[in-house]
This record gives sequence, C-alpha cells and structure tokens, in this order.
Amino acid sequence: LSDRLSGVFDRLTKQGALSEDDVKTALREVRVALLEADVSLPVARNFVKAVQDKATGQAVTKSVTPGQQVVKIVHDELVNVLSGEGEPGALKIDNAPAPILMVGLQGSGKTTTTAKLAKRLKDTQNKRILMASLDTNRPAAMEQLAILGQQIGVDTLPIVKGEDPVTIARRAKTQASLGGYDVYMLDTAGRLHIDEELIAQAAAVRDAVSPRETLLVVDGLTGQDAVNVAEEFDGKIGVSGVVLTRMDGDGRGGAALSMRAVTGKPIKFVGLGEKMDAIEEFHPERIAGRILGMGDIVSLVEKAQQTLEAEQAERMMKRMSKGQFNMNDLRMQLEQMMKMGGMEGLMGMMPGMGKMQKQMTEAGFDDSIIRRQIALINSMTKKERANPQVLQASRKKRIAAGAGLEVSELNKLLKMHRQMGDMMKKLGKKGGRGMLKQAMG
Ligand code: GDP
Ligand code: MG
Repeated sequence: LSDRLSGVFDRLTKQGALSEDDVKTALREVRVALLEADVSLPVARNFVKAVQDKATGQAVTKSVTPGQQVVKIVHDELVNVLSGEGEPGALKIDNAPAPILMVGLQGSGKTTTTAKLAKRLKDTQNKRILMASLDTNRPAAMEQLAILGQQIGVDTLPIVKGEDPVTIARRAKTQASLGGYDVYMLDTAGRLHIDEELIAQAAAVRDAVSPRETLLVVDGLTGQDAVNVAEEFDGKIGVSGVVLTRMDGDGRGGAALSMRAVTGKPIKFVGLGEKMDAIEEFHPERIAGRILGMGDIVSLVEKAQQTLEAEQAERMMKRMSKGQFNMNDLRMQLEQMMKMGGMEGLMGMMPGMGKMQKQMTEAGFDDSIIRRQIALINSMTKKERANPQVLQASRKKRIAAGAGLEVSELNKLLKMHRQMGDMMKKLGKKGGRGMLKQAMG
C-alpha cells in the first residue's frame, strides 16, 4: 500500500489543510487495500467513511506529506476499531475451577488452541489446568488432545468410551473440583459447517457448566466466512471472545477488522503456527500494520507526531523572537515541560536559560508549581492571555481565586513571564532565527 499511496499523494496539493478531494483520492487506495486484505465490503466502506470525516480539514504539517498524514489517520482509526475494551488476552478464570468452553468449526484449530492456552496459563500464571475433549464423533480427536497434554505437561480427563458430550463436561467439572484444578477447558467437536446439531450440542454443554469464557476459534484465513461463523455462534450460544488462528499465513488480517466491526467481540488471541508456543495476545497495532501492508507504519506515525510538536515549538520560538510572547505561549511551554518530565529538558534547549534554571531550582520550582501555573493561566480570559499587560489588581484577584491560589503566586508567574519575554527578545536581536533554531536542537 505504501508505494501505491505515495504515488497518489505526491500529486496531492500541499495546502494548509487536507481537502475533501485529497482525502477522497487517498482513501480510494485505502479501500482497495482493505478489500485486498480480505475486509468485507460493507466494513471497508464504513471504515473509509469514518476516516474521511476525520481527515478532511485536518492541518497538514510541513514535514510530512499529505499522504503520510492520511496514512497516520487511517492507522489510528484501524487501531481504534480493532481494540476491544479490557486487556487483550485476559481471561476470566477466578472462582476455581473456572470452565473455559472452546467452540468453532472443524479444522479451525480448536484442539491446538486449547492446548496452547493451557500451556500459556500454566507457564505464565502458574495455573493447574485440566483439559477434556468432548469430540465424541472422532476418537482420534480425543487422542490428539491427550497427546498434546502429555507433550506440554497438562492433565487431560481420562477417555471413557460411549459417553456423550454433556456427560463428559459434567465429569470434567467434578474431576476439576475434586482434583483442585484452577481451570478446566472443554474442547468441543466441530463441523465443517454450522448445523443445528452442532449448536444444540454446544448449548447443552454451556448449560451444564456455565463457562466463564466461551472462546470461538476461527481460521483467520477464511476472511468473510470467519465473520459469518462468528455472528452465528455468538447469536446462538454467545461467545465471550475470539481466537484467530493461522495468522502466521499470508492472510492479511482483514478478518480481524471485519470481526471487530461486525460482531464487536474482543479478539483475545492470535494463533501463529502449529507449535505449542505459537500463540500471542492480540495486538491491534500489529494487525493494523499488516492490513496496511507496511511494517514500519508505527515508526512513521511516531515520527510524524514528533515533527508536529517540533513545528509547533518552532512557530512559538519565531513569535517569541519578535517579542510576541503571551500567556498562551507560556502555557504551551509549561505543558511541554510537564510532558518532558520537568523543566530541565526545555530550559536545556535554550541558550542563556541555564542561569534562570538555576534560580528557579533554588527557588524551589518544581512540577507542582508548573501545574499551579497552568491552572492560573487557564483561569484567565482569552484577552488576558493574549495581552497580560491588562492585568490590574481586581483581575488578578479574580484569576487567583479561580485557580484556588494566592495573588502572590500569580505575581510570580507574571514576573517569570516578563523575564522570559525579555530574554527571548534579546536572543532574537542577537542571533536572529538561526540561533533560535540552533537552540531547538
Ligand atoms: P480443530 O478441528 O478445530 O480441533 O483443529 P485442530 O486444532 O486439530 O487444527 C487443525 C490443523 O490446523 C492442525 O494441523 C493444526 O496444527 C493447525 N493449526 C492450528 N492453529 C494453527 C495456527 O495458528 N497456525 C497454523 N499454521 N496452523 C494451525
Ligand atoms: Mg479438534
């Protein structure tokens, strides 16, 4: 996508803000990329619409191309849609023994995922797990789980021939209680397609054990089908989360986006191979990068953000060198200081500030003071901020009271502002912009 987009974007006009046409042109390509990544058409359409509304009219920063800017907005929105509420990968397993029901179509990776998750819970949370196969259709499937259990050192419920799934589920529950297990996992039978018997069986098991989590395992390579399956399972038996398997393949991850947009269910894990460790919690950023087809998207986004801040600062420096240093500028500096974890970073960037910094430190200037100063500035009217000279006694009283502080603190702030303004003016005269730029690093 990145190559194709840059072609389109190079032709975009570099005006101050993203125009509707710019955005539309760019998003046409994004839409194609989404469809190629296997995102369903209505989801792609809605997604593009949402991004279009957000992007149109946004200011274009000098140092990124409009294309990069649109990609950033697309990326952020992708992450936004992909993220579910709560911690990714968190499972409700309090109140031991906690039942986890695994459902899905045949071949989606249920049995493999059951064992992978059991191993993960054992290794990372030190849980005792019991696994049971309810796949009575295929004796080989029950064997498969037992073998995986041995391999990863997790117990499986002994196989008893001729039992039905609900009976096995009840036996697992009893065994989990008696055996002091933290979690018992029920690996159900799948079908090639959803049918009534499959659903009825899963529902009966659900009613027998009241699972804490019902995890739907779907093949991430099946795209739109995966979403249909999820909707149906969720509608008929209710699922608490989704595991997308085969995300190690060359699928582009579009199923994840459709899944989130259509079902609203959290994607909790992704399967990344056949090995028992090949599972990880769902990372929206990684999938977003994959859908956009650019691995370095995140660093690009970060760089764009940094550039944006640097440009803001540069604009301020320019104003300051002309002696235009008002309370808005000061507030921006103070906020920047808070962000950089204190005053040192900012002061250090400006030549001639060292002495002042020392004075401030000696005067006990710290972050709580910065916070109070920001509160004072917030308590001023727009006019007062732009033109602090208008502040006489009655206004000062009002401002201090509004911030819940003393007038003496406001006076200190005003004094600091004056001093900084003077210093800026001197710097501006002495070295001009070059020096200020140098000071910016
Ligand atoms: P079930 O019928 O739903 O229980 O599916 P299985 O767990 O038996 O898995 C079917 C096949 O898919 C097996 O060969 C697994 O090794 C393979 N498989 C499962 N998960 C993944 C995955 O995340 N990536 C890859 N590449 N293969 C997987
Ligand atoms: Mg199976």
